Amino acid sequence: MSIQFKASLEFAKSLDQNDSIAHMRNEFHIPKDKNGNDWIYMCGNSLGLQPKSTKTYINQELEDWANFGVEGHFEAKNPWMPYHEFLTESMAKIVGAKPIEVVTMNTLTTNLHLLMVSFYQPTKTKFKIVIESDAFPSDKYAVESQLRFHGFDPKEGLIEWKPRDGEELLRMEDLENILEVQGDEVALLLIGGVNYYTGQYLDIKKIAELGHAKNCMVGIDLAHGAGNISPELHNSGVDFAAWCTYKYLNSGPGSLAGLFVHEKHAHNKSLNKFSGWWSHNKSTRFNMRQELDVIPGAEGYQLSNPPILSMAAIKASLDMFSKVGMTALREKSQLLTGYFEYLIHQIDTDRIRIITPKNPKERGCQLSIQVKNADKNLHKQLTENNIITDWREPDVIRCAPVPMYNSFEDVFRMVEKLKTLL
Ligand SMILES: *Cc1c(COP(=O)(O)O)cnc(C)c1O
Repeated sequence: MSIQFKASLEFAKSLDQNDSIAHMRNEFHIPKDKNGNDWIYMCGNSLGLQPKSTKTYINQELEDWANFGVEGHFEAKNPWMPYHEFLTESMAKIVGAKPIEVVTMNTLTTNLHLLMVSFYQPTKTKFKIVIESDAFPSDKYAVESQLRFHGFDPKEGLIEWKPRDGEELLRMEDLENILEVQGDEVALLLIGGVNYYTGQYLDIKKIAELGHAKNCMVGIDLAHGAGNISPELHNSGVDFAAWCTYKYLNSGPGSLAGLFVHEKHAHNKSLNKFSGWWSHNKSTRFNMRQELDVIPGAEGYQLSNPPILSMAAIKASLDMFSKVGMTALREKSQLLTGYFEYLIHQIDTDRIRIITPKNPKERGCQLSIQVKNADKNLHKQLTENNIITDWREPDVIRCAPVPMYNSFEDVFRMVEKLKTLL
C-alpha cells in the first residue's frame, strides 16, 4: 500500500474525504442508537444493510399488483413474467459470468441441491465429495445428505480439506495431495470460494484445474464472495456455483439466491435435472400441454414462478452495484480493510491475532480476529456499544467493513473501542 497510514481520527476522516464512493453510505439505512448516532455495522457478511431505494422498488410491485391483479405479469411497469431477466446482466457482471450462465432463484442451499442433481452423478467407484473442513454447516449437511441419497455413507464418502495442525488457512498443496491420492474416487469438489470463518479467498481457477485433471466436477459456494470479491466465474472454468443475496448483496433477509452453470454445460441435454414449468421454453410455456422443452443454460434450472417482492429488493441493490461497479468497490475494499488491519496491529497486546490472510488478493473485506482467553462476553460488550460484529466459537470475532457503506471512520472507532475493552 503506497499510502502511509496513521492511527488518528483525523487521518481516518481524510481517507473518507478522498473516497470517491463515500456518498453511497447515504443511500443506506444505517441503524442508530438512542441518541441518533450511527451504529458501527460490521456485519454485512451476515446481513447487508437496507438500501433506501428498496422500499420504492417493492412498493412499485405492490402498486402494480393492486392496480392490475394478474395482468401485472404483462402490464406492470416491470412485467413479472420476465422479471428475473432484469437481474441477470448485473448479477452476471458481479460474479464475472455470461448472462446465459446466471439466474436468480430459490435459496442458496436449495440451489446447491439442484446443482448436485446435475453435477454429482456418482458411480460405485467414483463417488466421493471433497469439501473444506470448516465448511459452512449448511453446505456440509447438503453434501452429506446427497451422499446418503445416493446410498453412500458420509463417513466413507466425505473428504475434508483441512488446515495443517496449528494453522487456520487452507493450503493448495494439501488439496493437490488429496486428489493425487484419492482423485480417482472423487466425483465432486464443493468448496467455499471465500471461507466464512477465516475470510480466506481461495484460487478457484486453480481448484477447477486440479479437480478437472482428475475428472471431478467442481462447484463453488460464493455466499461470502458475491459482491465482496470479483471471482471471474466464467474464466475460472468451474462447473457451477451458488450464492445468497442477503449478505454482501444487501437484498434482505432470506432473499433469493444466485446460480451459475458454466456455458460449456448450457446445451448438454444428458445432464440430470429436476424440472418445473419455469424450466420450460418461455415462448411455449403457456400452451401448457407440451412435452418439457428445457431452456438452455442457467434459466433451465428454474422450477417455479418466482417471488417478485424479493426480486424487487434484489433489483434495488443490483442497480446500485451497476452504478458503482465492482472495480471501484474492490479498490476501496482493499484500502478500507488494509487500514483496519493496520489499526488492529497498532493495539499494544498479544491477546489478539488476525487469522485472515495478509495478502489482499487472498481475502475479501472480512478480517477474522482471534482473541486469546476471550469468551462471548467481549462480543456482547461490543454489541452493547453499538458495534455490530459476529462471534464464532471458540474465540473469533468476524468483522466485515463493507466498501459500499462502511467508512474509514467506522473502522477507526471500532478499533478504539476494541482497544479499551481488551
Ligand atoms: C450464509 C451461507 C449459507 C446459508 O444458506 P441459505 O440456504 O441461504 O440459508 C450457506 N452456505 C454458506 C457458505 C454461507 O455462507
